[in-house]
Amino acid sequence: MENEEGNVFWVKVDGERRLATINLVPGNQVYREKLVKIKDEEFRAWDPYRSKLAAAIMNGLETLPIVRKSKVLYLGASTGTTASHVSDIVGPSGIVFCVEHASRVAREFLDRVASLRSNIVPILQDARNPKEYFSVYCQVDVVYSDIAQPDQTEIAIANCKSYLKKGGYIMLVIKTRSIDVTRKPSDVIKSEAKKLADNFEIIQEINLEPYEGDHAMIIAKYLG
Ligand code: SAM
Repeated sequence: MENEEGNVFWVKVDGERRLATINLVPGNQVYREKLVKIKDEEFRAWDPYRSKLAAAIMNGLETLPIVRKSKVLYLGASTGTTASHVSDIVGPSGIVFCVEHASRVAREFLDRVASLRSNIVPILQDARNPKEYFSVYCQVDVVYSDIAQPDQTEIAIANCKSYLKKGGYIMLVIKTRSIDVTRKPSDVIKSEAKKLADNFEIIQEINLEPYEGDHAMIIAKYLG
């Protein structure tokens, strides 16, 4: 079964219904996920305990703005677990610009993910300096941000102002403990959403438990 946009699927893996994407690099596993062949397509099971985007889908994401051919700016690629599924979804005609500042994880990301996927452009930079990404040559449809910093929302907004097209979407992962351990997580999410108010229309807020404790995702439309 596939979703409306035809890019996220449900497949049976060992008798269980699992979220999956079509593997852009058949035969290749990124994080030892199960591969399932159905007719001519190979699907990669997508683990919501390893990927916050999968967790958001499991917890009722209403619309996934990342579709086939999307251009995505992805902040905090790490070793590429989620970025690889985003690469599957946008397909060969889409593009995923992936920003990561930690050289150790970036190397693993380059070797195991980016070098095998022609639609990924790795950017070894600090997301605090979006003007320094010389390889982002176009405006993007979606900014996906998962950087776990105290000023994560401000960093994501600065990236949107540089690269997100008007009418595009931000998918902002909020790690409440990175912002303030002393406040209630729901208050932290409220105050981070408020920071978006000047430039965005909030579409949905999703708590990512039980897959990720102390995390939420805000999806908002960029008004420019
Ligand atoms: N999004 C990944 C996934 O689902 O597979 C997990 C991301 S992990 C929680 C956060 C990543 O953001 C780390 O790899 C960290 O090095 C990176 N990061 C944190 N601050 C950053 C910054 N200022 N610029 C670029 N990357 C940053």
